[in-house]
Amino acid sequence: MKIILMGGPGAGKGTQASPLVEQFHFPHISTGDMFRAAIKDGTALGLKAKSYMDAGGLVPDEVTIGIVEERLALPDCADGFLLDGFPRTLAQGSALADILDRLGMKLDGVINIEVAEEVLIPRLTGRRVCRQCGASYHMVFNPPKEEGVCGQCGGELYQRSDDTVETAKNRLNVYNSQTEPLIAFYEEKGLINRINGDQPIDKVFQDILKALA
Ligand code: ADP
Ligand code: AMP
Repeated sequence: MKIILMGGPGAGKGTQASPLVEQFHFPHISTGDMFRAAIKDGTALGLKAKSYMDAGGLVPDEVTIGIVEERLALPDCADGFLLDGFPRTLAQGSALADILDRLGMKLDGVINIEVAEEVLIPRLTGRRVCRQCGASYHMVFNPPKEEGVCGQCGGELYQRSDDTVETAKNRLNVYNSQTEPLIAFYEEKGLINRINGDQPIDKVFQDILKALA
């Protein structure tokens, strides 16, 4: 299964990625996770990405497309993958089509998790993420059993530096102007599955499974 998870910032892409990976055993390719790991490791990629991420903007296409191309060429993607947070611009969408052509791969579908804007900001500001495994929690909507501790791996939970109200608003504006047009791009190709993301996490997952069946 080769699929893309789309949706605004805070729509629930990372949250749904976990059970999807459990079900389909494919690699979860999150460009945001790749950039955060690069920043943590102090690599050249991390240095390039950091200022854009801190401001809630997008890392330039040429940087982002390059890392995805390298990742998709690895053998573990041959039978399937879950792209999360990529593509985010029309240029990334066309570049992805070229990359998949070169690799002889075809997308099975695009899942668009739809959530109203007014729901997204509180989701982002209340989000807590595991430092170790990246699992996503919410202080109110999806709290961990033990405060500050990841229920999956026991890792420490932290608040992402770009989950402040101000940066979250910037990210929403960037989503509306640069990423939203991709929905029509994939709709024209008959690949979009619209999922109501303003439902309990389990129900969203069941709807995604139905769409993929
Ligand atoms: P994304 O990866 O799309 O940016 P996340 O999966 O990290 O978003 O989810 C953002 C926040 O919203 C997290 O705190 C998460 O726990 C919470 N969340 C995700 N899905 C739901 C849902 N269906 N209902 C309520 N809260 C949710
Ligand atoms: P995410 O973890 O998906 O919320 O992404 C966090 C941040 O990483 C975004 O706000 C961007 O700055 C950057 N980023 C992630 N994916 C992309 C992408 N496909 N294109 C450009 N920037 C990205």
